[in-house]
Amino acid sequence: PSEEFESLRRKIFNDVQDVSYFVNNQLQKLNRNSNLNDKIKFIQKNFQERINLLSVELENLSESDTLGDWRKVESENLAIKIQNEFHDLQNPSDCEKRKKIICDLNKSCGFGCQMHHVMYCFITSYFMNRTLILDSNDWRYNSHGYEAYFKPISKTCKTSKEKSTDWTGNQYETADVIRMPVIDEITNKPEFFPLAIPKKYLNSLSRFHGDPFVWWAGQILNYLMRFNTKFEELVQNVKKKLNFQAPCVGVHVRRTDKLGTEASFHALSEYMTHVKEFYDRYDLKTSIKNTRTVYLATDELEVMKEAKQNYPDYVFLMDETNAKTASLNQRYSPESAQGVILDIHFLSQCDFLVCTLSSQVCRMAYELIQTRYPDASLRFKSLDDVYYYGGQLRHNVIAVLDHEPNPGYGEIELKKGDLIGLAGNHWDGYSKGKNLRTLQEGLFPSYKIRNTIDSY
Ligand code: GDP
Repeated sequence: PSEEFESLRRKIFNDVQDVSYFVNNQLQKLNRNSNLNDKIKFIQKNFQERINLLSVELENLSESDTLGDWRKVESENLAIKIQNEFHDLQNPSDCEKRKKIICDLNKSCGFGCQMHHVMYCFITSYFMNRTLILDSNDWRYNSHGYEAYFKPISKTCKTSKEKSTDWTGNQYETADVIRMPVIDEITNKPEFFPLAIPKKYLNSLSRFHGDPFVWWAGQILNYLMRFNTKFEELVQNVKKKLNFQAPCVGVHVRRTDKLGTEASFHALSEYMTHVKEFYDRYDLKTSIKNTRTVYLATDELEVMKEAKQNYPDYVFLMDETNAKTASLNQRYSPESAQGVILDIHFLSQCDFLVCTLSSQVCRMAYELIQTRYPDASLRFKSLDDVYYYGGQLRHNVIAVLDHEPNPGYGEIELKKGDLIGLAGNHWDGYSKGKNLRTLQEGLFPSYKIRNTIDSY
């Protein structure tokens, strides 16, 4: 299929979902101040059933006429090519002569944030044709460092004899060994920074995948997070103990220190609405009643208790120890690292994710799930942000239709072709952003835009 065909197909899928957000949201508002409650509930239920069927039909269409096979071959081949490239870059035969980048794992934040820091170092070394050296001494989670859980990211080039240079001015382009700062300290960000993907893979990736950067990020994590033998054994044991099985929906509920600072509270019921929707559609697709399994990860133990008590129709796979060691007072310990690595792993082994993309744990699971499907860009529901990368250069979208703002709704004008800096999706039919032509900020219907893909 052409890229045009695939983009159109994905756009229709998104638009159907968007219609459902819009109508459900409007009906909910009506429901609050109306004496037609029964009628509205009837419409909601019927509408949802029809939307579910449409979504399943579209999913079937996406796999029909050998399209599914084509996408699978295409993504598997590209994944192999890229993993080989990473391997070669990281295992030079002439380490001493190689230009290098040194990256400190121990950024003063959580594991997801630290891994995204390493990912940006890795992206930099990839595009600058350097070898990445990971410094995981004094890691706040585990004094034994990264290799307590993962295979070394290089076998042949693990240290650097030369003195390292800081990233200042243009020195990063020429110095033999650069020590990476945190991404926010860089003012002259090169064009290969997120959300760019390698230009040479743009054609292939943008055809088979709905969000190429996320797939690319998944490939990097896949390379970085290869479990060592001991940890792989543990993962297999936990898998058996949990009786981990497909189908499964991964739910991540981030609470405690994140609330009020970087994210808002969301009740478990909000997450479960989307889990139900996934299984209603899955039952329709498979024509059987499936066991409704949920892998639940959270940093708040109460959420696990609530899940068990209030949702008897669901089977919850969860480990209370992980929730306990996730709390701030136990967080920076080997037990906590083990917990979060396991949680991210099992979330990413599910068929679908429901979480808040404001959390780096959720973002990592979303990146990793991409390595298990040719295109898992739609296998998630975020209760807050759209996908982003901390410190990203930009996330622009293009208007595909004109928009005349409805007065009083905080909307902005769009002209077909306008570039808009995307701020977020309100998941009610509207997105928010800044029109780069008029510099106006505000809301516009989500179906009137399409994504752009940066490449380098
Ligand atoms: P963010 O703060 O949610 O964006 O994600 P970070 O990964 O940067 O920091 C949060 C840290 O809290 C994680 O790395 C974990 O140490 C801990 N944490 C948060 N949620 C969970 C969870 O669901 N399970 C476990 N085991 N740990 C969690």
